[in-house]
Amino acid sequence: MATSKSGHDHDAGHGHGHEHGHGHGHDHEHDHDHDHEGSELGPMDLRVRALETVLAGKGYIDPAALDALIDTYQTRIGPRNGARVVARAWSDAAFRAWLLRDATAAIASLGYTGRQGEHMVAVENTETTHHLVVCTLCSCYPWPVLGLPPTWYKSAPYRARAVREPRSVLAEFGVYLPEHTQVRVWDSTAEVRYLVLPRRPAGSEGLSEEQLAALVTRDSMIGVGEPLSPAQAASS
Ligand code: FE
Repeated sequence: MATSKSGHDHDAGHGHGHEHGHGHGHDHEHDHDHDHEGSELGPMDLRVRALETVLAGKGYIDPAALDALIDTYQTRIGPRNGARVVARAWSDAAFRAWLLRDATAAIASLGYTGRQGEHMVAVENTETTHHLVVCTLCSCYPWPVLGLPPTWYKSAPYRARAVREPRSVLAEFGVYLPEHTQVRVWDSTAEVRYLVLPRRPAGSEGLSEEQLAALVTRDSMIGVGEPLSPAQAASS
């Protein structure tokens, strides 16, 4: 039965890929709006868009400036909290152990608490295991440590493909893993949010915690990127 005129399989049969074997059982008890059935804009999105349109039409706001502001929170301010968590773990073995044992408490000890971060789990990348975080149902994301989720994180293709073909997704982000490295995909839920503890870059041995934090990118804490090398950080 040919129902698809555009040829893509948008959410056909709830294709969320729940068979991917890390059984936390999405039970649709997320306490926030889901946009995974049909319309991409919820009531709040529509109100925001309407307001933005009116304000821009009257010349009160510049949409480009608004985008720049949002980008600042997405990529600069928000993820710096997570970067400090990672830098502390890289430089303090006891904190690292605490983070891996009880991420919520370890992260809260640095002052990063709040909504969407009540139950944190940190997963550590190693030479043999690489972790990748997704929310297959919507856009669950650890706000207190990473800020607002980037647009691609909320997109249907990322949500579906991160589970089905994580290596292809990683390659598109420029991450090429050796064959022997196992990729583990973590599906966020309303209850649990994940922070990837990336591998400490080579050549970073003498750096201070603050210098280490400058190497930690947002993407590396989602698992779709690697931290910067000291040389990359110096030239950026
Ligand atoms: Fe979600």
